[in-house]
Amino acid sequence: MFSREGNMSHDRLAIFGGTPVVSRPAPAWPLFDDKDRVALNEVLESRVWGGYHEAVGELEKRFAAFHGAEHGIALANGTVSLEIALTVSGIGPGDEVIVPPITFVASATSVARVGATPVFVDVDTSTINLNPALVEQSITERTRAIVAVHFAGHPVDLDDVVSLCDRHNVVLIEDCAHAHGAEWQEQRIGTFGSFGSFSFQASKNMTAGEGGMLITNDANLAERARSISNQGRRTGGAWYEHQTLGTNARITGFQAVLLLNQLERLPQELKTRMDRAAYLRGKLSKISGLVPTPATLDERVTIHGYHLFSMKYDSSAWSGLPREKFVAALQSEGVPITTGYPHPIYRNELFQHHPTVVQPCPEAEAYCKSSVWLPHNTLLADESWLDDVVTAITKVRGAVEELSAVRD
Ligand SMILES: *Cc1c(COP(=O)(O)O)cnc(C)c1O
Repeated sequence: MFSREGNMSHDRLAIFGGTPVVSRPAPAWPLFDDKDRVALNEVLESRVWGGYHEAVGELEKRFAAFHGAEHGIALANGTVSLEIALTVSGIGPGDEVIVPPITFVASATSVARVGATPVFVDVDTSTINLNPALVEQSITERTRAIVAVHFAGHPVDLDDVVSLCDRHNVVLIEDCAHAHGAEWQEQRIGTFGSFGSFSFQASKNMTAGEGGMLITNDANLAERARSISNQGRRTGGAWYEHQTLGTNARITGFQAVLLLNQLERLPQELKTRMDRAAYLRGKLSKISGLVPTPATLDERVTIHGYHLFSMKYDSSAWSGLPREKFVAALQSEGVPITTGYPHPIYRNELFQHHPTVVQPCPEAEAYCKSSVWLPHNTLLADESWLDDVVTAITKVRGAVEELSAVRD
């Protein structure tokens, strides 16, 4: 017999000493196998440890080709890649660049680093990507570029964004740090504007610990980006001849071989994450107050990159249970869920010291108060693991009064 509190340990919430529902950890990330060990050892023994290892060029070629772009420039990380894309697009002091507030801070600090002014514009309530109508209203005679982030791996509305960039003669830079391999209407992201910028930082869906990449179809922009990343050298030029003001943003062969192997695994991983996310969406549709963003996938999103499985938690559908308590209870049940970005990035102190324009962003503010995320590796689990996650959510739902009664 079950009492209201539950005699069986499975019935009692893990946060109150019961047995966690999810007994197996989510699939480990990053993945690696013997192929990586062999490849790393080959770089080691080649003694070409710097950025001139042939695997770097091979990665650039294959990563660009995979995304349908002609040129790839491998870089130290996804922050300098944005800075370099902005620099070679001629953006600097006096220019305004429209950025979303729901993203990692680098999407906007890169703009400030080149001396331009980030203009924060609110997101769409369902995709949490830049709202094209609000972007259009925010364009001034100083607007030179848009850094469009494919948040969580969901492509921004590229029909509207590309069209407004064309109409207003504004440069489009796609921040694809969440969206390796994603597609909008069967075209890979990163190829809709001047540049697609990628990150291979440790948390990302392709990673070498650190790393980045720019892709572009413009040979001239590609050459200038490469030159900046390589101390202002010209391709084919002499080692000690420096034509432009550059820096060193090269990656190593060690990173490149890991990324080459991951690029081979990426199509299967994209498919698995899409399948699992659809499965999870189906299950969540029966639970009120926990809604994926978006609740149903736009059919123009032919591949969602799923860096995150993003949801909105509505405490009013959970008897007023605060989000933090909901998340803590689920974490105790073994679910690796988090609350997401704590605030829209314009709230960071650094922007008090740099010129910014902040448009009203009620959707971004609301999202940060309601968001809950599952990381991408959870979408590589099998369906029975996701069933356990859903069971854990249902279990927490069953104990919502009891949880609410606990004082902080
Ligand atoms: C991670 C990330 C970056 C920065 O990439 P790093 O490689 O960490 O420098 C930029 N934009 C977004 C949206 C990111 O998530």
